Order: sequence, then structure tokens, then C-alpha cells
Amino acid sequence: MTNKTIIITGPCAAESEEQILLSAKEAKKRQVDFLRVSLWKPRTKPGFDGLGEKGIELLVKVAKMGVNPATEVIIPSHAEKVIDTVLTAVPTAKVLLWIGARNQNHYIQQEIARAMGNEKRAYLMVKNQPWPSLEHWEGIIEHVLHGGISKNRLLICHRGFSPNGHANPYGYRNVPDYEMTMKIKNKTKLPVLFDPSHTGGSVDNVFRIVKEAAKHSFDGLIIEVHPNPKNAKTDAKQQLTWKQFDELLKLV
Ligand code: PEP
Ligand code: MN
Repeated sequence: MTNKTIIITGPCAAESEEQILLSAKEAKKRQVDFLRVSLWKPRTKPGFDGLGEKGIELLVKVAKMGVNPATEVIIPSHAEKVIDTVLTAVPTAKVLLWIGARNQNHYIQQEIARAMGNEKRAYLMVKNQPWPSLEHWEGIIEHVLHGGISKNRLLICHRGFSPNGHANPYGYRNVPDYEMTMKIKNKTKLPVLFDPSHTGGSVDNVFRIVKEAAKHSFDGLIIEVHPNPKNAKTDAKQQLTWKQFDELLKLV
């Protein structure tokens, strides 16, 4: 890890006001950089796919508590609505939006970046695509830059690659490629975060993999933490309690 470690944490998905306000209280105590309040969830099969637009008010509530919210966005209008609502309601807030691993349409990637305009308090994070390809990953970054996002508002996140065909002794949900990630970091000079939750896929693996990742010069972590992981509507197996989160941070 580098000296200033950026920490984004919170539940996989925003599920209810109670869950998010509880999470915001814990995030505030720990002064994390951003709280995950993710409103749109790409799902393998139909199911709970997020609170959507009606959850934007939760991001406003979190921002009013002095905690900066973060959410995945899937189409450009999501970015526009979150930025307009949250940053207008709370002039001191920052928001972080991210493009998920499965959102691999270059037109949408460019348009999300374009929809973010010149708003200095809105940051964009792009995750790598599910399949291993340096060229494709570089392409995502080039597409959002082409859409007009400035480099000082752009971050990258590694969440591993689909394990198909890779050696995977610990049964990681996705297999990390630290070498490729550091190539991207050196070439782009952008901050690169690691996502031990979607890479590891289980609490044990999150602990195991964060120690591995600590040997590389990541600039931060995005970690899933839920007030009651067992009852989480998405990714229940990999979400930590706040107590586990505190233990985890001692390892980095
Ligand atoms: C997420 O971060 O909520 C997510 C869905 O992860 P990924 O895009 O890495 O699959
Ligand atoms: Mn998740």
C-alpha cells in the first residue's frame, strides 16, 4: 500500500434507510473516504437489483452527515441524477461513481464520463472487465478519458479476472493479476484501488487476499461491509462486519 490509502467501504447494495444510516454512522467514526451506497446492481440472474433512483435521497442523507457517498452507475442518466441531486443538496459533499466490471459497452462508458461534466466534486472509478486483457482494460480508461473526465477525477480498481482456466487454489471468486494492474498503474499514473471483496468472494478469502495485495503499491481499497452480513440481499458470503473491517485494516 502507499502512504495515503483511499478507503471506500459499505454494503454491497443499499437495501434500506436503516441499513444505510447505520453504515454511515460507522463510516463517520472511521473517517473513511467514501461510503458505498450502491443503488444499481448488475446481477447474473434477475433478483434484487438495487433501490435505483428512489435511493438517491439516501445518498443525500449520508452526505448531510458529512460522509461522502459512492455508487455504481450503469447508464449516463444515473450519473446525471446522482450528481445533480447530491452535490446541489450538499455543497461540501463529494461523490464517487463507478463503472462496474460487467458494463463493457464503450459507448456507455464514454457517455457516463461525459454526463459527469466538469463537476470537480464528482469522481469516477472504473473497474477492470471480467476477462483478462491488458488491451481491453487500457481501452476502458481511454474511453472514459475520451468522454472528457479529467485525470484528476479518475481512479482505477482491480477486482480480479474470471477464474476460468486460471489456477485458483483458494477458490477466489476472481483471480487477481497484480502484474497487469501495476503495468496499468505505471502507464496511466492514476490511483489504483484493490477490491478484495469481489476478488476473494468469502470473508476468509478477503483476509487472505488483502495480505497478498498489501505487497503491491495499491492506492486504496474498496471493501464490502454490512451491518448484518448474513441477511444481506446480495453478496452475503463476502461482506464483513465492522469489527472484521477494523481487524482487516490492521493487515494493510
Ligand atoms: C460491485 O462493486 O458492486 C460489483 C458489482 O462488482 P464488480 O463490478 O467488480 O463485479
Ligand atoms: Mn458486491
